[in-house]
Amino acid sequence: MTVTAYIGMGANLGDAQATLLAATKEISVLPGVANAKLSPLYRSAPVDAGGPDYINGVLQVSTTMQPETLLRALQAIENGHGRQRPYRHAPRTLDLDLLLFGREVRNTDFLTLPHPRMHERAFVLMPLRDLAPGMMLAQGSLEELLAACPDQLLSRI
Ligand code: ADP
Ligand code: MG
Repeated sequence: MTVTAYIGMGANLGDAQATLLAATKEISVLPGVANAKLSPLYRSAPVDAGGPDYINGVLQVSTTMQPETLLRALQAIENGHGRQRPYRHAPRTLDLDLLLFGREVRNTDFLTLPHPRMHERAFVLMPLRDLAPGMMLAQGSLEELLAACPDQLLSRI
C-alpha cells in the first residue's frame, strides 16, 4: 500500500539550506519512497531556545514503507549530517520529524503520529499549507491553526 507522508525538516547549524536540500535528495532515493516534493523554505528564530535562525521546510513523499521504518531511515540521515543531541531544543545540523503518515495514529516512545506539536508551530504549518492548502488536522484547519500560532515571524527564502 502506498501512503502520503509529510516530513518536517529543520536546521540551524552549518549551511542549513544546503543540508535541507541534501537531505531531500537522500530521502527521495530511499527504497520505498517516491514522488518527493519539497515545500518552499522559511527562516525563523528558534522557539524556546537560543542559537542561529532555523531554516525549515516540509517534504511530501509517497511511500510503501512502514512508519517506524521510515523514521529509522530519517534518523540515519540525521546522524549522517552529524546530528548530536546534547540537550533538549539544542541547535541542530538537521532535524527530520515525521509529521503525518497517511491517517496513521501511533503513540509509542519511538513514534507518535501525528507529530504531537506540529499543530502549534508556524514553521511546520506554513510549508505544509504550501503543499496541501486545504488540509485539516484533528485540531482544525491549517488556516485556523496558523492564525493561533505564537511564532508568526517567518520569512520565505
Ligand atoms: P526534537 O523533538 O527536538 O525533534 P529529536 O529529533 O531528538 O527531538 O527526537 C526525539 C525523539 O522523538 C526520538 O527519539 C524519536 O523516536 C521521537 N519521536 C516520536 N515521535 C516522533 C515523530 N513523529 N517524528 C520524529 N521523532 C519522533
Ligand atoms: Mg526531531
